[in-house]
Amino acid sequence: MTSLETLKQYFGYDSFRLGQEELISDIITGKDVLGIMPTGAGKSMCFQIPALMMEGITLVISPLISLMKDQVAALTQSGIGAAFINSSLSDSQIAKALYNAKNGEYKLMYVAPERLFSYDFIAFARSANIQMLTVDEAHCISQWGQDFRPSYARIPEFIAKLPTRPRVSAFTATATSIVREDILRQLELVNPTVLVSGFDRDNLFFEVKKPEDRFLALMQFLKGKKDRTGIVYCGTRAGVDDVCTKLEKQGFSASRYHAGLSDKERRDNQENFLYDRVQIMVATNAFGMGIDKSNVSFVVHYNMPMNLEAYYQEAGRAGRDGQPADCLLLYGGQDVHTNLWMIDNPRDVEYPDIETEMALKERDRKRLKEMTFYCTTKDCLRGYILRYFGERPENYCGNCANCNTHFETMDVTEEARKIISCVARLKERFGVVVIIGVLQGSKAEKILRLGLDQLSTYGISKVSSAQLRDIINHLILTGGLSKTDDQYPVIRLGQKAGEILRGTEPVIMKLAKDDPTEKPPKKTKTDRSRKQMEQLVTAQGKPSQEEQPAKEPDIALFEKLKELRLKIATEQRVPAFVILHDSTLVDMCVKLPKTMDDLMKVSGIGRVKAERFGEKFLRVIAEH
Ligand code: ADP
Ligand code: ZN
Repeated sequence: MTSLETLKQYFGYDSFRLGQEELISDIITGKDVLGIMPTGAGKSMCFQIPALMMEGITLVISPLISLMKDQVAALTQSGIGAAFINSSLSDSQIAKALYNAKNGEYKLMYVAPERLFSYDFIAFARSANIQMLTVDEAHCISQWGQDFRPSYARIPEFIAKLPTRPRVSAFTATATSIVREDILRQLELVNPTVLVSGFDRDNLFFEVKKPEDRFLALMQFLKGKKDRTGIVYCGTRAGVDDVCTKLEKQGFSASRYHAGLSDKERRDNQENFLYDRVQIMVATNAFGMGIDKSNVSFVVHYNMPMNLEAYYQEAGRAGRDGQPADCLLLYGGQDVHTNLWMIDNPRDVEYPDIETEMALKERDRKRLKEMTFYCTTKDCLRGYILRYFGERPENYCGNCANCNTHFETMDVTEEARKIISCVARLKERFGVVVIIGVLQGSKAEKILRLGLDQLSTYGISKVSSAQLRDIINHLILTGGLSKTDDQYPVIRLGQKAGEILRGTEPVIMKLAKDDPTEKPPKKTKTDRSRKQMEQLVTAQGKPSQEEQPAKEPDIALFEKLKELRLKIATEQRVPAFVILHDSTLVDMCVKLPKTMDDLMKVSGIGRVKAERFGEKFLRVIAEH
């Protein structure tokens, strides 16, 4: 069977996504690979397909119990032998799993890194036909990453204990080059194929708001999303408790997750969310790694996260199935101070020495600054993120709030020169507030006391404070000015200040128009889910064009199919998305299969799934 046939037969998909095929074929030929792909790109397929195509077994090292559990459940549903070994199993369960593995019942075996060196596991590994060792979430090996796990560092030692070295494949969504280098070096990959696929997630809509009242902003956002699943990330545990309680008071089905809860409550709440028993998860960043719930349709950050790595990873948990999804960040000035405090007073971190501590904290402050710029930029938000990760995106994506708001491209060279010369006259000793005050001719006590009203730049600007602030931010971003890292940051001249002052460097930027943009007409709930369905259908490669011209997907049928899926999922005690994805149900609504053969043409239906519950779905469709 070819890799494409394997994909179709087991997972029901018709084509590979970007990068998958290349990695799979390199793995098959015996090469080591490192796949760097954004969350939701389909990394799992890159090792699951080769695992199915090769003799013997693939070991998958994975950091999280929940991740293993879901992946094994999904594989089992597709008729693939798989098991996991971690601390959630009893000794006898582990013995049984190893026994089955030895008898060739599994193609994939997931294992927690801490288990690798247990006596039983080593004994098993030395006698088994291990064709591949896969390291999932490989950034855990790097101290420079976010989720450093010391036991990952011992993986090479484990490999060395095997009678023959299997091919090694590693996967991560972490893009920064320092982490990438660390993975290659520490895992001792041999002449590996390194594939970095684009980090763009074009189904995600990005938005940043700076609301007076965050909860109100959240309520507005949630309006009309009563039937959608999402995550709300808060900066602190207290924030989580507060927001969760308020949401429940407002009639939302919400649950919470943070490190201050008992293990049991955390586990229960997470399960309720995974199994679609609650709609909104309110959580700290402790929640989510390894959560590959595919129908998360929004991620709201109630506070600004510490860096863009964390933000993109967390926001990226939305829309993993390729459906349109929303990522909203609520930003307040206080967030910067909270984060600075957290950088200076980190929880559960031990530094090997003072130099490392200084270097890491400095790095974190720098990242925080970039994060803050993201919150204030007027440029395309997607573009900002992608540039941060080293890509060169277009200026305009058309699918973020900044692109969609009405911007005017303006030549602000004149204003920029006033600002820069004001900074120079102030001897680079003041912050944004004073600079704006001087430019606008403020009579504030401080300005008068310091005699700043005597400066030649006093009162020379007619532009609003908000716009001045935007221009200053733009200048900081583009090198006309710079900003110190202190608690009370001071604005200094940047390396391009001279050119701008001399007029050799024009300053062109997008400035928000002063008039508020007109609000789009209110939509009803049905409108919205119809819209969602339409977007789903287009996102899936336009099946409606050839086969069902002008046919509208049927929302009532969609609901019925969801009901059936929930029933099956409950019986099997797995999350609904493990049975079938929303996108598969939508494709059913579009293709309206009548026979088993028809059903096999629906995206996401493999042979085993068709056999297991195909009849049930066909019946619901026929009755409908
Ligand atoms: P990652 O691990 O990269 O975050 P996953 O492996 O969980 O992503 O895949 C994300 C989703 O995309 C899963 O629901 C998976 O079934 C789906 N998927 C993966 N590859 C394909 C493909 N070639 N065609 C359609 N869907 C795919
Ligand atoms: Zn954009």
